[in-house]
Amino acid sequence: MAHLTKTAYLAYTQCRKAFWMAAYRPHLAAPPDPATQRRLRAGQEVDVRARGQFPDGRTIPYRPHPEEMASLTAQAIAEGATTLFQATFHTADLLVKVDILTRTADGWHLIEVKSSTRYKPEEHLPDVAFQWYVLQQAGLPLAQASLMHLNGDCRHPDFSNLYALTDITAEVQVYLPQVAADVIVMRETMGQTETPVVGIGRHCRQPYACAYYAHCWQGVAGATIYDVPYLKRPTEQQLDTDGIRYVADIPPDFALGDKRAAAFVTQLRQQQTAVDADAIRRELAALTYPLYFFDFETIDYAIPTFTGCKPYQQAPFQYSCHVLHADGTLTHHVYLHTTPDDPRRPLIHSLLEHIGETGSIIVYHAPFEKGRLRELADAFPEHATRLLDMVDRLWDQLDIFKKHYRDYRFGGSNSLKSVLPVVAPALSYQSLAVQNGQQAQVVWEQMVGEGDTAVKEQLAAQLRAYCHLDTLAMVEIHRTLVNL
Ligand code: SF4
Repeated sequence: MAHLTKTAYLAYTQCRKAFWMAAYRPHLAAPPDPATQRRLRAGQEVDVRARGQFPDGRTIPYRPHPEEMASLTAQAIAEGATTLFQATFHTADLLVKVDILTRTADGWHLIEVKSSTRYKPEEHLPDVAFQWYVLQQAGLPLAQASLMHLNGDCRHPDFSNLYALTDITAEVQVYLPQVAADVIVMRETMGQTETPVVGIGRHCRQPYACAYYAHCWQGVAGATIYDVPYLKRPTEQQLDTDGIRYVADIPPDFALGDKRAAAFVTQLRQQQTAVDADAIRRELAALTYPLYFFDFETIDYAIPTFTGCKPYQQAPFQYSCHVLHADGTLTHHVYLHTTPDDPRRPLIHSLLEHIGETGSIIVYHAPFEKGRLRELADAFPEHATRLLDMVDRLWDQLDIFKKHYRDYRFGGSNSLKSVLPVVAPALSYQSLAVQNGQQAQVVWEQMVGEGDTAVKEQLAAQLRAYCHLDTLAMVEIHRTLVNL
């Protein structure tokens, strides 16, 4: 029988079927995409670096058989080790490896290292509680459980406060009976030879995108009840019980409870479009030429890499800017940093050349660009006046689609990727190698580290094409709005 590990437990807490599939049908799991792999690598880096906080620590060496690692752990404890990394405990069918285990006067302190910047109970509590449960079963006297996470106040290059420790002993104690009950069901489930019957639902995407999503959702076409925003859980369960999967099948007299959920369903079912052309005209009247259609691409690092940056601070490495002049002419500017050093200063120099001192700066989801411009102003105060002036000139095209333009074909989203195919269908992201910001991060890291000039240029061209389309899309959407 497969071991009940922490990974298995976390899969179980999301979905019993996913837990069973991981043991019996692992070949049906989708491999992690490059963005997920990047996140996992960052997590490993954070974990390994955290060990530096414990100079007396001993790492339990990897062995293919966890029983051997458990023996080495027992031996290290018997020898008086004060801190262990990857301490392994195996009892009956339960198995865990602990990031950091350190001895205190009252017993052992279990420390789980996470690359997040705060304790997230819904994700981290089951994780740590399962480890505590197994260590307790193995007879280890425990005194404390903590989460060691990144500290959002840390600034590169001073890493003296890179980590923060949150004591969660009390929460873990309260959660332990839940773990005990779950282990019983996990054992029963693991004994089954048939796939557990679990329907699809929001749990397939939350808290993590399930690796079996493509398998379980095959054949599902059209908007489902799990796509309806603001739908309350009991209402959704009622629809589930009634065997209703698609929005189109919800009876017209069914009480959806929430007004926003009902509006979404009505719009979709009646294929409604609601465009307030007068309000849009009033919003557009606030714009002043030249119009700068602008978009940043950014890179973030769990452990900050550039001076003054905190964990996960988004440092811009690229922008695209289409400029629409009053006479209708359109010009384009781009900046792409192509080396792995800090891209911000040269990017600012380019930005100040390309964006003049008058004219509206049109972005899609202004808080993002606003935040980046303010961070650049903080980091490079000599340019703060011009950068903060740009903040004041930002105009958010997204607001039009939040307030005055709704279309059932947006599918309940008003992201640029959802709006573009409806409002300016001549443009499409479909054929691009880079299709979203996370992919852009992965490709940028590849590109700056690439030694082959031809490959590097190919990757750079992919990034330019993606960012170029983002701002050209805004131009085309603007033209459609003007012509309403
Ligand atoms: S896709 Fe959904 S139903 Fe299928 S295993 Fe994953 S969480 Fe469970």
